[in-house]
Amino acid sequence: MNQITRIGTDLHALVADESMLDLALEGADIAPLLMVLVHLSGEEHWLDDVAPHINGPWNFQESVPEDLKQRVRARMKEVLRDFSLNRRPLPPEPPPGLLRKMLSSGVGGAVPEEYIPMILEEMNLGDSDPKTVRWRTKPANDVLAGFRAVIIGAGVSGLSMAIKLQEAGIPFVIYEKNKTVGGTWLENSYPGCGVDTPNHFYSLSFEPNHDWPDHFSKRDELWKYMERLADQYDIRRHIRFETEVTAAVYQEARAVWLVSTCDASGREETIDANALISAIGQLNRPSIPDFPGLNDFKGPKFHTARWDHSVDLTGKNVAMIGTGASGMQVGPSIAGEVGHLTIFQRSAHWAVYNANYHKAVGAGKTAALKLIPFYAKWYRFQLLWASSDGLHASLHADPDWPTPDQSLNETNQKFREQITEYIRGQVNGDEALMRKVVPPYPPYGKRMLRDNHWYKMLTRDNVDLVNDPIERITADGVITRTGQMVPADVLVLATGFDAQRMLAPMHIEGRGGQTIRELWGEDNPRAYLGITVPAFPNLFMLYGPGTNLAHGGSAIYHSECQVRYIMQCLRELLESGARAMEVKQDPHDRFNEYLDATHAKMVWAHRGVGNWYKNKAGRVVTNSPFRLVDYRAMTEKLDRNDYVMV
Ligand code: NAP
Repeated sequence: MNQITRIGTDLHALVADESMLDLALEGADIAPLLMVLVHLSGEEHWLDDVAPHINGPWNFQESVPEDLKQRVRARMKEVLRDFSLNRRPLPPEPPPGLLRKMLSSGVGGAVPEEYIPMILEEMNLGDSDPKTVRWRTKPANDVLAGFRAVIIGAGVSGLSMAIKLQEAGIPFVIYEKNKTVGGTWLENSYPGCGVDTPNHFYSLSFEPNHDWPDHFSKRDELWKYMERLADQYDIRRHIRFETEVTAAVYQEARAVWLVSTCDASGREETIDANALISAIGQLNRPSIPDFPGLNDFKGPKFHTARWDHSVDLTGKNVAMIGTGASGMQVGPSIAGEVGHLTIFQRSAHWAVYNANYHKAVGAGKTAALKLIPFYAKWYRFQLLWASSDGLHASLHADPDWPTPDQSLNETNQKFREQITEYIRGQVNGDEALMRKVVPPYPPYGKRMLRDNHWYKMLTRDNVDLVNDPIERITADGVITRTGQMVPADVLVLATGFDAQRMLAPMHIEGRGGQTIRELWGEDNPRAYLGITVPAFPNLFMLYGPGTNLAHGGSAIYHSECQVRYIMQCLRELLESGARAMEVKQDPHDRFNEYLDATHAKMVWAHRGVGNWYKNKAGRVVTNSPFRLVDYRAMTEKLDRNDYVMV
């Protein structure tokens, strides 16, 4: 059944159920509902009436008077009834002029022309995914059957790659080190673990989920979503679980990768891959700092990504090291249960408030997402706009800004002041605590966190924040440089990941016997568009070097851009009859020069900031400095001239 028919069926059910219709209309956010009304009815005047009360893309940024909301809902009811009773087909995409006006009205600000293709793709108003790469001349069955792609990792990127390969009829196998799918959302199960990108945007554009229980759902729901993807698209039969790829060596004469694997029982195998696609992500190998005495600690100790659920924290003295995104979620989730929580902070992180962060999605909104035609699509547009490129321009340093150590420019300074005031309110004006938690560097220098009641937690009697550096760990606790001994029964390492050592610990050996470590060193990865590397033919990366997002957006958005690009590469290979494609040095180098030069102006390259984006030499290696709209444009169409085909 295609999407339009399905929407139509749901619409009849909705209109037939008056109480459900009222629930959905009441629960729907007014801005996307307004968009649906205009989309279905073509009645443009509603934009003039309502849009002046929409002050931004988040639902808490609208101040639409209640009587006006009721008028929108009442008219919406009439329109839905008309569509249902008269069996009217749902309209296509609004005409360009109206569409432009709707986009800007819906988010309370001008939406530039350059964003329209990206938005339309993300909203996916039609019957099929506009990012799908279709054959121009479908290769013969035996050509396809003789080709094999190997995907490493069954997280969201690996699954999304697999879905697209399957659609195109390209054979593939996935190797996954864990027992099941989910990647980061499987491995991270620490208390409070959840997403901090709005969920209805943090999901595949072609596979929305209308059942997210929260606006920012927790790990179990995200993992369930990945499990559902694997089942729905019947991907599991292609996955070799509990099997790690240990090495891949390019065989130039045959133009294949010889991929070595090792399963849970230690059995080793090799397999040929025509294309090798890494979907291992950047954040899958925990970083365990080399604290003196760490192994002497006699109680349980574990990294956040390897949470030991057998350990009962009730009443225990817990020491947690690290205050990044993981620590921010763990701390407040366990503070009420433990006896005492001591948090070791090496440097403070900025964290912002979001009114939806702890809010459940009500039954009404869920009904609207499921039953009101186009509502979910307009809602997705709003969230995309709310959490993507809006801040990008404000993260560039103004060379004339007088206080470059603490902020970058006027907007960034305002941001600093607003967050500082917010923190002051949360800690009840405790200036000693303020001095510890307000970072000296500009907001966004490290990944911006969402306040998970962190500051309030710090005011609890059973929580201490220690910013004295750690000297060593003993059998019973942690000793700081000033000699303070903090007793601990349990040690939690919220110390992040080895993100810069990309593709480790695999041995990847390209053309001419060169290994990826020889090329990149320990921590200096580079790739063209974050995807391909000279001398490593037919090797593709999802979430590779220079693709992590730090200004906004969603890793899933980037991953979908990369999947589309890789699908075009494979189409090129298979249609042309070439055996291998290798990115040329020149475009690769030019891209990386541009990447580095763009980073140099951005906040995360700021000299006063330590973050996991930089390597030891200070080069930002994990992140993209580009707006989403730019990265989309760079990856939208493969330029065959960038590659040598053999
Ligand atoms: P992280 O941001 O790298 O934080 C690691 C923390 O450990 C930092 O506070 C760091 O201090 C500290 N640390 C590291 N080594 C240390 C040492 N030797 N001594 C003392 N402190 C040390 O790691 P994370 O919190 O796991 O987050 C990593 C990334 O995962 C995030 O940025 C995000 O992209 C993703 N993530 C997302 C979510 C979400 O969506 N909600 C949740 C978790 C993780 P410094 O700051 O001084 O380096």
